[in-house]
Amino acid sequence: MKFADLHVHTWYSDSTLSPEDAVRTASENALAAIAICDHDTMSGIGEAVAAGDRYGVEIVPGIELTVEKADAEIHLLGYFMDRAAKWLDDRLKELQRLRLDRIRSMAHKLGEAGIDVVPEDVFKIAGKGTVGRLHLARAMLNTGKVRTMREAFDGYIGFNKSCYVRSPHFTPAEAVEIVLKAGGVPVLAHPVTIGHDRYIDELIGCGLKGIEVYHSDHKPSVIKHYEEIAKKNGLIATGGSDCHGMGKGRIMIGTVRVPYEAVAELRKSSEGIYGQR
Ligand code: AMP
Ligand code: FE
Ligand code: FE
Ligand code: ZN
Repeated sequence: MKFADLHVHTWYSDSTLSPEDAVRTASENALAAIAICDHDTMSGIGEAVAAGDRYGVEIVPGIELTVEKADAEIHLLGYFMDRAAKWLDDRLKELQRLRLDRIRSMAHKLGEAGIDVVPEDVFKIAGKGTVGRLHLARAMLNTGKVRTMREAFDGYIGFNKSCYVRSPHFTPAEAVEIVLKAGGVPVLAHPVTIGHDRYIDELIGCGLKGIEVYHSDHKPSVIKHYEEIAKKNGLIATGGSDCHGMGKGRIMIGTVRVPYEAVAELRKSSEGIYGQR
């Protein structure tokens, strides 16, 4: 039986692992395939594919986009998008630039709350990666004013907390449209983190094709729940660890795995979408 971990980050966003580290770890865990799904970038995929050739691990190109509603943060995965598309690259560069502004705004709010974080330090932590709240949380820890990641998010920078700044990202329709336009397959990431299922129908109406049923934050009862939702709506059931390297304290690649058939289903779906463009 072949298995895949369809949600892995690299240091091109907020993981501490290089694409090669991710591929090597996948190989050590006997995975046939991994999907690289960095936030707002596909820059790590070329290196991952090169490493994948050497280690015998298939790389599924992916991305993770952020969608916001007034009461919820939703993550949308896109698989098999055409990363050579110029319009897509332009759009992603713009999102990456807006991320810098968002970190500056959150750092300003944190300063008012007595936690002095220098934006440049956060950018340094992010290195070449798209900067995000995981890097900001790391900088907050470095000030000594918060002691844990959890305190940083729950007390300050978690969704709609006191120092949170909305992401200038997308509505469900816009994000799904970008993935489809690039010939990719839109999949709802870790639905449990939304807190409710009220946006799933809207996403399906926009063209959602799959749902991440298996995820490191999904306990068995949650998995069963989303298995049923996938089945009822004809959605591809995907899954992955959402490994952020040591960014989230431990390397999780391979701890959540799905049968390789999920990769085949995603590929087939993308071929249908690509053909319709
Ligand atoms: P950003 O893309 O800047 O909005 O940051 C998203 C990152 O922050 C993702 O890696 C999330 O997993 C992480 N994140 C969001 N909320 C929390 C939370 N409450 N606790 C820990 N990590 C979180
Ligand atoms: Fe992340
Ligand atoms: Fe996510
Ligand atoms: Zn993720």
